[in-house]
Amino acid sequence: MADRDRDLDRFMDWVKEKSPGEQTFHQAVRDAARDLLPLQAENEAYARARILERLGIPDRVIGFRIVWQDDDGRTQVNRGWRVQHCNAIGPYKGGIRFRPDVTVSDLKFLAFEQTLKNALTGLPLGGGKGGADFEPKGRSDSEIMRFCQAYMAELWRHIGPYADIPAGDINVGEREIGYLFGAYKKLAGEFEASLTGKGLSYGGSPLRTEATGYGLIYFLEAMLQRQGRALKDQRIAISGAGDVALHAAEKAVESGACVISLSNSTGRLHIDSGYTREDIAWLKTRTLADGKRLEDFARDCGRGDWTDGADPWDLACDVALPCATENELDGEAARALIGNAVSVVAEGANMPCTPEAVDRFHQAGVLFGPGKAANAGGVAVSGLELQQNVQREPRERERLDAALKEIMCDIHETICGHRETQAGRIDYAAGANIAGFRKVADALVAQGIL
Ligand code: GLU
Repeated sequence: MADRDRDLDRFMDWVKEKSPGEQTFHQAVRDAARDLLPLQAENEAYARARILERLGIPDRVIGFRIVWQDDDGRTQVNRGWRVQHCNAIGPYKGGIRFRPDVTVSDLKFLAFEQTLKNALTGLPLGGGKGGADFEPKGRSDSEIMRFCQAYMAELWRHIGPYADIPAGDINVGEREIGYLFGAYKKLAGEFEASLTGKGLSYGGSPLRTEATGYGLIYFLEAMLQRQGRALKDQRIAISGAGDVALHAAEKAVESGACVISLSNSTGRLHIDSGYTREDIAWLKTRTLADGKRLEDFARDCGRGDWTDGADPWDLACDVALPCATENELDGEAARALIGNAVSVVAEGANMPCTPEAVDRFHQAGVLFGPGKAANAGGVAVSGLELQQNVQREPRERERLDAALKEIMCDIHETICGHRETQAGRIDYAAGANIAGFRKVADALVAQGIL
């Protein structure tokens, strides 16, 4: 076994001892430590300050009980958390997700990723993540409101514009942020920029909803451009049907690409000739707002092939954009994509590709854009929302879109400056880990041992 692998195993044994059984957290830390341990070993200041060991344990994990009443007057009890991972370069920042199967391990992995992602954006934001084991499906609007209020009754004392600024994530969109913000304001007694993803009428930013998906396409465009290719006419397979997937699809179609799939947890909607702008617009209004599902499209619009239980990864495509959830694209799916000559994979979700899938992409020479870089557009526009709140000056959509594009291109440039393989191909995963880490590590070193 090479020294490098031995060091990584030893480090991971230490991390596992500190966080037993937290598999998704171990996966995210291992992915980063593979690139960062050698860097830390070479850098005396980082090694002395034990930066990686410090990032292997979040600053704190806040856990609480959430008690609320459902529409039948029954008392419901849930668990909630906020992971504050690292505030070396700015206040903790990251989303909140509601999912019945969410674990502390998931929130720790997401907060860890967020620290590196936020550093890459160039904005002064630290990393955090929160959530609750709440199933919003089948709940009425007033139940969602009461749950958000009960969640905030515990969370509010731990957040604030200079402490920790949550946003949305899976199952937490503008409606939930509205209820969370309303409760925060009442409890804190002040109107403060303590959440992002707010509605436009009370301090939200244009483009926040679209930002992750649009940013993903801007990042993809930069990856392709470096290879002398354009987005136009690329065949793109996308998984997911939420904000990230639909806005990525929208921007890709606008740019002349051919988007051939979207999916949800029950199956895939394949349109071989490509989704049209009208198809995406239908899906945005009907599925995001009116409660329809992706599978209704084929019946209602008479287009597309719906396949129960399928994902998009056996479709022939040039580009794959996993935009659904963690570990959705495994080694087998990667093999199928490679067999169909995929040339670029970029992650719209957080850690949707398993380590085996990522290894396969690297071995096959497929360009791989990791989520911490490729999906940073969401938190970047959250950062711009905060700037607008503090300056009390809203900005126009066009200006924000230009700023988002610039940030995604800057992230791409920064990464390219950090890691090029012998073949002249960029190792985006290593580059993102190294560039994000350096920023955080330099700040931690400068701030002393504490
Ligand atoms: N949940 C998003 C992410 O994974 C956005 C977080 C934010 O805007 O703070 O990056």
